[in-house]
Amino acid sequence: MGFIVTSSGERSWKGNEPGVVCFVPGFAHINHQKAGVYCLAFELRLLPLDKEVEDNTDANMEGALIARDRVGVQDFVLLDSHTSETSFLNNLRKRYQENLIYTYIGTLLVSVNPYKELDIYTVTQMQLYRGVNFFELPPHLYAIADNAYRVMCSEYNNHFILISGESGAGKTEASKKILQYYAVTCPTTEQLQIVRDRLLLSNPVLEAFGNAKTLRNDNSSRFGKYMDIQFDFKGAPVGGHILSYLIEKSRVVHQNHGERNFHIFYQLLEGGDKDLLCWLGLERNPQKYAYLIQGRCAKVFSINDKNDWKIVRKAFSIIDFTEKDLEHLFGIVASVLHLGNIQFEEDSNGHAIIRNGTQIKWISKVSLTSQVLSPLNVDLAFYARDAVAKAIYGRTFTWLVNKINGSLANKDSTRKTVIGLLDIYGFEVLDTNSFEQFCINYCNEKLQQLLIEMTLKAEQEEYELEGIEWEPIPYFNNKIICDLVEQKHKGIISILDEECLRPGEATDLSFLEKLEEKVGDHAHFVTRKLADQKTRKSIDWVDFRLLHYAGEVTYCAVGFLEKNNDLLYRNLKEVRVKKGMLFLYVATQFKNSLMSLIEILMSKEPSYVRCIKPNENKEPGKFDDFLIRHQVKYLGLMEHLRVRRAGFAYRRKYELFLQRYKSLCPATWPHWHGPAAEGVERLIKHIGYKPEEYKLGRHGSACWRGALARKEAKKRTW
Ligand code: ATP
Ligand code: MG
Repeated sequence: MGFIVTSSGERSWKGNEPGVVCFVPGFAHINHQKAGVYCLAFELRLLPLDKEVEDNTDANMEGALIARDRVGVQDFVLLDSHTSETSFLNNLRKRYQENLIYTYIGTLLVSVNPYKELDIYTVTQMQLYRGVNFFELPPHLYAIADNAYRVMCSEYNNHFILISGESGAGKTEASKKILQYYAVTCPTTEQLQIVRDRLLLSNPVLEAFGNAKTLRNDNSSRFGKYMDIQFDFKGAPVGGHILSYLIEKSRVVHQNHGERNFHIFYQLLEGGDKDLLCWLGLERNPQKYAYLIQGRCAKVFSINDKNDWKIVRKAFSIIDFTEKDLEHLFGIVASVLHLGNIQFEEDSNGHAIIRNGTQIKWISKVSLTSQVLSPLNVDLAFYARDAVAKAIYGRTFTWLVNKINGSLANKDSTRKTVIGLLDIYGFEVLDTNSFEQFCINYCNEKLQQLLIEMTLKAEQEEYELEGIEWEPIPYFNNKIICDLVEQKHKGIISILDEECLRPGEATDLSFLEKLEEKVGDHAHFVTRKLADQKTRKSIDWVDFRLLHYAGEVTYCAVGFLEKNNDLLYRNLKEVRVKKGMLFLYVATQFKNSLMSLIEILMSKEPSYVRCIKPNENKEPGKFDDFLIRHQVKYLGLMEHLRVRRAGFAYRRKYELFLQRYKSLCPATWPHWHGPAAEGVERLIKHIGYKPEEYKLGRHGSACWRGALARKEAKKRTW
């Protein structure tokens, strides 16, 4: 690999005079400002490019400058004081207050959750972004989506869009909007309409079963989702595939105060018709079901369960679920509710018995295929009941994803390219953090690590490799935390697994002791002793604390062993583990699935959306400086900006570059017969780049196409 790179270009703004405002690291301050004015002018009026240039009078410039003061710049690269966190924040705030929720750092999109409906997701807006060069219009998810799509079509390679941010920051909304964008703007045929509809409608179904109201977010994803959208050679979406990650099963039987179970339970009760409920033996009132009322908020103002049920019901019919499938599915949902209402009493032998057999009867009717009798005491019986409820819900979710995948599968064997959308549960810190938060936060560490690897680290290493002069920019690499969690033998997951291998002897406390012994002196692990001395906050005897990239989290170790084991009671579970088959504990399975996800992503071209949560109260328009500064910090946005400012924005392999732009130079058109690198040099000189505006990589490959794209844009009619 090797590159031609040019200074943070990619912009195709037109200046007063022909030519482009080019960004050159370090010494193009004035141009930056000017560019900011033009960017802003576009943003304010959403005018087509050519028209904008005609309007480019001094008066207009002045107006735009004043407006810039009000609404900030649309790319942080254009900030005058690009190293200051405060000016970064000021810019974000200005824009947020004007409902401009998107801002670029080069090609990375920063998004701040507006917590209100904005008029920027209409079909007209979608059409506006379709096929337009990245920087010609104000920052938008659609620009990210369109860019990935266009590069995929022209270079025939695979892409992914990584959407990250903490719980409630807007990841799921963003991923849905991107999907809608493709559904509306990509070419399609009557035959393919069904694929498009299924791709879209897989969302409400998965959200019904995999999302829930939490304290952080009324529609919080409680599973991770990676979705590939497959495109044929004409760029039409022809299929899809979903990978799901570790659903939070414990929610089925327990919810914290102010939280709910998965939406589907409430939707079924609110929206299901009378006959269906009657067949399932259910009453409409959620208060009647123990599993639905532990958080004491079955009814939520912002959620319309009845309406959502209708959407889900319709989605099922389009995704090809038969009536029989649905009968089974709702039978299982109902069984979980009945299970939760089973009460045990002690008989004269100290064994648990069920006096009221109503629930069991309903369960037998709607879902159960066989029963087992097992002598347990009352506590163990309750425990087993919950274990069954969690297990059947977890398996049903997997079945659901498989079923959806079946309906999205494209049987045609011709080569396809894909755009992957990654929307995973965001980093979260609750009052009590358990095994689930440990897994979720570990997953976020891994994604942060991927981002660092693919941007900050890779970018800087590449300059070195290509022999391009470069002043290294320091950044925090969270690999150290990933290692603490996942390292073989020494990491927290391995220690947990080791304890799970000592049934009867190991406890959550012995796990904690092992942690202290093995990772107690790690810089990101706070032992109980240290926590007591150093931080004022006391730490419980059953807690351990990790210093994550996104902040400090105290985990309660109670239940870690049990959840990692995830075993049903011996005579309740099927004999799944065949002889010689390797049994993997939950955290290790999760770790392995994340590793393969990272591999999948690393093989694709990335785009990034960094979502920011503006306040803790889900309030529109409220910009909480403290909270946002914290996110800007831990997301590494300042470092990203510095690398972006100092670096070269665009690169392409020599061959690809030549292929794409050879028509612009008589020496390379229609064919260039010499070495690709030489052809590119000729082309670049012909176009008139100055030497400081680009660099040629040592190993011969890629290039910027901003100015070239501008030339193309000129040819385009609006
Ligand atoms: P989690 O990690 O908990 O799943 P998330 O990052 O996926 O969180 P979302 O569910 O996407 O968060 O967003 C939370 C809520 O914020 C949404 O239900 C919606 O009310 C609001 N929201 C997010 N993005 C937008 C947007 N672009 N426009 C309007 N409202 C939005
Ligand atoms: Mg989500």
